[in-house]
Amino acid sequence: MSEKSVYQIAVEQYDHAVRYLALSPGLAEMLRQPKRELTVHFPVKMDDGSVRMFTGYRVQHSLAPGPGKGGVRYHPAVTLDEVKALAMWMCWKCAVVNLPYGGAKGGVICDPKHMSQGELERLTRRYTAEISCIIGPMTDIPAPDVNTNSQTMAWMMDTYSMHSGEQALAVVTGKPVEVGGSLGRVEATGRGVVITALEALRVKGIDPQGATAVVQGYGNVGAISAYLLQDEGLKIIAVSDSVGGINNPLGLDARNVLRFKQQTGSVVGYPGAEVITNEQLLALPCDLLVPAALEGAIHRGNAETIQARVIAEGANGPLTPEADEILECKGVLIVPDVLANAGGVTVSYFEWVQDLQIYYWTEAEVNARLREHVMRSFNEILAIAREKGVSLRIAAYIKAISRVARAIELRGIYP
Ligand code: NAD
Repeated sequence: MSEKSVYQIAVEQYDHAVRYLALSPGLAEMLRQPKRELTVHFPVKMDDGSVRMFTGYRVQHSLAPGPGKGGVRYHPAVTLDEVKALAMWMCWKCAVVNLPYGGAKGGVICDPKHMSQGELERLTRRYTAEISCIIGPMTDIPAPDVNTNSQTMAWMMDTYSMHSGEQALAVVTGKPVEVGGSLGRVEATGRGVVITALEALRVKGIDPQGATAVVQGYGNVGAISAYLLQDEGLKIIAVSDSVGGINNPLGLDARNVLRFKQQTGSVVGYPGAEVITNEQLLALPCDLLVPAALEGAIHRGNAETIQARVIAEGANGPLTPEADEILECKGVLIVPDVLANAGGVTVSYFEWVQDLQIYYWTEAEVNARLREHVMRSFNEILAIAREKGVSLRIAAYIKAISRVARAIELRGIYP
């Protein structure tokens, strides 16, 4: 892991990209910090009859392009600093894929693995009530993140609706399909990873048919990316989860591996594959590497060992800035997280649009529009990268920051 805090990293990335833009000093300073940080302390009745206090956050980075958008994370290690960084990244991610949203993020310091469903429901409902002064279908629209899911979103939507006295389906996204969710949302992030990874392979002149891929992390993003890559003709030679990795140079059947993980709890032990460590997995020679597990998985200490020719960042922030620099120098083409994993927020946007219209699309329509959105963004960013001679990451930041800055300029500084 990097020695820097995630917020320091987010600000550093911003400062780096801003040098390529002619923003006025005031505007540059404005976008360097969040617009609003809300901290709430609230009680929850626990199953044993006791009352426990919890702390939660909702941060809005900028609302100039439109309502805030970003997930809610439940984790013991949540900090305001982390939520601020994630809100800034959401702001750039929405702008990268041309969504009419600003960036936001939320979090509650809690350990959901040691809480019952009833406790989680009461925590979610009270947290929603506490932040309801700054969220809303046209204000700020939360979504799931680490340790929150479609059930959490159903509770948030219901709580907000109870308070507002009307059905506020569009107040959160990532809901179950039965209560205003969108078809195609579950696979959306993996789909976006695959669309951008295939484009990056094309840029490198690598034929996807028979190209080799390694995927770190076998959850929502990793497993879905793996089987969709396989559908496109790539050979998945290694995958891993928090327990460890498996390798078969002849190729793994990604859907079978997923079934095995669902039955046993891990990919490790999958028949006919060699067990390897996560470090060995990252160092395998391959055409494409998809880090889809944790922040900071590839760092100064292991970046030199990477042999992949293309990296598509399925996870948020899987490369530290130091690793990014080392891999750039090695000529690895890196599709940055704000572009590679933006498929999820793009279909969240589609869910919001469908909820506002109360008219729902077929899965094929959702997937077709997702593809169109992500392809357009990839090509726009590639064009900036080529014109300015910068990496796709810097190009994505240039595009995102310019878009948000332009929104501020057009709206003007109030009053
Ligand atoms: P998940 O919990 O479904 O899956 C995470 C996977 O990573 C699990 O298989 C876990 O075992 C594995 N893992 C954990 N520690 C590991 C380690 N040290 N080495 C290897 N594997 C490890 O989570 P997810 O939704 O797939 O999210 C993964 C990443 O993608 C996160 O950074 C998340 O912020 C990002 N992301 C997710 C979405 C989405 O729609 N789910 C959208 C954008 C970004």
